[in-house]
Amino acid sequence: MLLPGIVLVLVFLVLSTRPRLYSFQGQVMGTTYNVSYVARPFSHPLPEVSGVVHAALADVDQRMSTYKQDSELMRFNRAPVGQPFKISPDIVELVREARVISEMSGGAYDITVGPLVNLWGFGPGEQPQPGSGDLGRLVNAPEFVQWLDSQYPGQIPDQAAIDQARAHVGYQSLNDSPDDSTLTRNKELFVDLSSIAKGYGVDQAADALRELGIDDFMVEVGGEVMVQGLKPNGNPWRLAVIGPGMGENGLSALVEPVDKALATSGDYLNFFEVDGKRYSHTINPLTGWPEAKRIAEVAVIADTTARADALATMFMVLGDEEGLELANRLGIAARFAYYTDDGYATVTSEAFKPYIVPQI
Ligand code: FAD
Repeated sequence: MLLPGIVLVLVFLVLSTRPRLYSFQGQVMGTTYNVSYVARPFSHPLPEVSGVVHAALADVDQRMSTYKQDSELMRFNRAPVGQPFKISPDIVELVREARVISEMSGGAYDITVGPLVNLWGFGPGEQPQPGSGDLGRLVNAPEFVQWLDSQYPGQIPDQAAIDQARAHVGYQSLNDSPDDSTLTRNKELFVDLSSIAKGYGVDQAADALRELGIDDFMVEVGGEVMVQGLKPNGNPWRLAVIGPGMGENGLSALVEPVDKALATSGDYLNFFEVDGKRYSHTINPLTGWPEAKRIAEVAVIADTTARADALATMFMVLGDEEGLELANRLGIAARFAYYTDDGYATVTSEAFKPYIVPQI
């Protein structure tokens, strides 16, 4: 018969070696990040893990930001036209990934949309003094990139400015070298990776956790999430897809995207209104105007967060009808929430349905 003291020690040993949940947060890419991982006590000290993850995210921020004038991407955006620019291989890979999605969408998704994003006031750039009336400029930006001051939401650019910006858009004029080492702008272009590099940052953070030997985790950066493995109680990670006003309309959804990524895009995060009409940061490169279909939010589940991130932006431009047809034709897991006369409605592609947790 084991003595009580020994039983207590055994219980303590069992409890103290059981895997537990550790969580940490931080700021990067102008937004927040949250990480949860499962580990045995003392096996993966939180300060070490959080340092490695932050470094992975900060690296993407430093190299792929249009908000840092000295980033690799911004140096490429100012490089001479027609000359190959030596650049990190992973930026070349992202450009290739983006091209696949541009071609899939007939150009509705296009990372060279930067001049339009900046013109409509959704890009980076110092804020001109209020009342200056000055159409501010990106610090050290290429001459052709105008920046409409979003402090004055009434300033819808005139059509001539839109046409001028659109002349500098077109993923077909962005070329990569077969050896992944250079990119070339074949005309004045301004590449904006905001729609894909945040997701790529999640993928990089997930890889950093795997390299530490952590197999069960959730990484979220500004709403883009990658989950792998299980929670300490053995259940899958469960995520809520919920846009504004959808909770009370019973239109949120719970999903369990086991070992996959979930990204969302919406028209409610970054927009301005003029005469009751909403202009969001999702720009249709083919018209030069913010997309104004009835779509409110898109959620996409995919194997990588970068792809889910870019697909969600693409579907915001295509809208729910054209988007659902494409998602079903290509087997993409997507959920569309759109405005109706009295609120919202949702439609879900066939590939998305298996991830939904039935709400009793
Ligand atoms: P998404 O739908 O994922 O992306 C929308 C963005 O994609 C738009 O803002 C526009 O830039 C671009 N876009 C619009 N239309 C199209 C289209 N048709 N095709 C392709 N792209 C399109 N924000 C800050 O305020 N401060 C920062 O310091 C900052 N740093 C950043 C650094 C990096 C590396 C990245 C990737 C982003 C950074 N951001 C920063 C931007 C911020 O994180 C964005 O708001 C965010 O990336 C947009 O993500 P989303 O999920 O809101 O929208």
